[in-house]
Amino acid sequence: MEKHSANREQVVELLEAEGSLDADAIRRVSEATGVPEADVYGTGRFYDLLVRPGARVCQGLTCQVAGGPKLAAELEAHGAKLHRASCVGQCDRAPVALDAEQRVWRAGERGGITPDDASLPMNLAGAEDLDYSALARTRALGADAVLAQLKASGLQGRGGAGFPAHIKWAAVREQTDRTRYVVVNADEAEPGTFKDREVMLRRPHLMLEGLAIACEVVQAHAAYIYVRGEFVDETRALREALAATDKLGGFDIHIVNGHGAYICGEETALLESIEGKRGMPRLKPPFPTQVGLFGEPTVINNVETLACVPDIVARGGQRFRELGRGEPGTKLYCLSGHVARPGVYELPLGVTLDELVTAGGGYVGTPMAFSPGGASAGFLPMSERERPMDFGNLKKAGTMLGSAGVVVLNDTVDMAVAALWQAIFFEDESCGQCAPCRLGARWVRRALDKYLKTGDPAALEHLADVAWEMDEGSICGLGMTAPLPVTSAIQHFPEAFGTRQRAEVAP
Ligand code: SF4
Repeated sequence: MEKHSANREQVVELLEAEGSLDADAIRRVSEATGVPEADVYGTGRFYDLLVRPGARVCQGLTCQVAGGPKLAAELEAHGAKLHRASCVGQCDRAPVALDAEQRVWRAGERGGITPDDASLPMNLAGAEDLDYSALARTRALGADAVLAQLKASGLQGRGGAGFPAHIKWAAVREQTDRTRYVVVNADEAEPGTFKDREVMLRRPHLMLEGLAIACEVVQAHAAYIYVRGEFVDETRALREALAATDKLGGFDIHIVNGHGAYICGEETALLESIEGKRGMPRLKPPFPTQVGLFGEPTVINNVETLACVPDIVARGGQRFRELGRGEPGTKLYCLSGHVARPGVYELPLGVTLDELVTAGGGYVGTPMAFSPGGASAGFLPMSERERPMDFGNLKKAGTMLGSAGVVVLNDTVDMAVAALWQAIFFEDESCGQCAPCRLGARWVRRALDKYLKTGDPAALEHLADVAWEMDEGSICGLGMTAPLPVTSAIQHFPEAFGTRQRAEVAP
C-alpha cells in the first residue's frame, strides 16, 4: 500500500489548474508533487475533463431519444465547439448541452419532484432541518443504539449494490486502533440517474447530517465528499450548506471533484481518485471497510443512503422499514425517457413501473421497453411493468435496480440502436485495466455497428461467448454488465434484430 502523501493527492487538482496536459504543465506538476512525470501524465490522461475541457453535448440514451443529435447540430451550426459526453446527469431535462464551465447551457424544463410530504424520510421538496436534531440525538443515544436503529431500518445502500448499511458501519467502528474515514460517493454518473443531484441541491443539510452521524458512529476524524465534475451547482450548494452550519464539529470535511470518469463511481476507483491517481477499481478483498482510503478502514456511502439516516435516527428504524413494500424504506426513483413529467420521485421501495410513471404524469406514446436501473441494467419489456422494482425482484428478472435510474422507451425507438448507444457508453467508459472488459466492450460496440450497417445477424453470433468472458474475467461491475443492454435487447426484442440495414445510426 502506497504511503499517504498529501502531494500525491494534489496531482489532479494541479493539472486542472494548469488547464493543459502539455509537457511543461506535466513537468511543473511533477516538480510540485514529487510524482514522476510519466505517472502525472498517465493520471491526467485518465480524466475526460482534463483531456477534453470545454463545452459538451450529452450522447446518453435519454438525450439521444430526446433529440440530442439535433441539438448538437444546431449548436455546431452556430459555431459551437462541442465534445460528446457519455452522460451529464440531467436526463430529466434531455437533450442537454453543458458550457465550458460544465454548467447546464441548453436543456429542457427542470424535472418534477415528489410533492412536499413530511412523512417521507427525504422529502426533497421539504424544508431543511438546520437544528441537526438527529445528530444531537445520536450524541445522546450513543453509537451502539444508533447502529441498532440502522440495523432495524434494513437500510440498503442506495448507490446500486444494495448492501446493508449497518454492516459497513459496524465493520469500520470495531477497528478502534486505526484511523477511520467516511467517504460520500456523490459521483453520480450512471446514465438515467440524477437523484443525488437533487439531494445535494435541495436537501444538502440532510446528507451532511447523515454524514456527521456516520462519522460519530464509526469515530472518523475526516470525511471526503467526492462529487462528479459536472455538478458545479451541487458542489456550490454543499459548500454553502457547510458554511451555514456550526453543528458539524469533531471532524474535517473535504470536498473533492471528479473529472469526468464514470468508473470513479465504483467505490474503490473513487478511493484511488481521491488519492490523486487514475480511478481504476481495486481487486476485492480486501474491502474498503478493512483497507480503504489511504489504506485505512473506510465507510463509503452514497448520498441518498446518508440522506435516509437522519429520519432513521429521529423516528426509528422500524418506521423506516415499514415504509417499503417487499424491501425496507422509501427510494428516490429517477424517471426519464418517454414520460410526461420526468423527475425524481420518492416512493416506497418496490413500486411498479406503472406506479412510478403515474407519479411522473403518465406515458408518452405507446411504451415498449424500460431500463430499471441505468445502462448497467439492460432492458425489460412492458410485460414486466407490474414487477416490484426493488433489489431482489429485479435480480430475479436478470437485471438490477442499481441506482434506480428508470428510463422508459416507447415504440418509436429502434431497440438495436438503443443497445448501440449503451454499448458506446461502456466502450467509452471502460477504464481499460482488464483485457476482457477493455477488448470485450470494444468488440460489442463494433459488432453492433457492423450488424446495423449490414443487417447481417451473423455479426452478433459470438456475442454470448464475449459476454461470458467479460462476466468471468472483469474486475468490476462495469465489465460484468456491459453486454447486458444488447443481450437483453436481443432476448426481449428479437424482432429488432432481423435482417434490416440501418442507414445512419452513430457518429
Ligand atoms: Fe476497468 Fe472494465 Fe476492468 Fe472495471 S471491468 S476494472 S471498468 S477494465
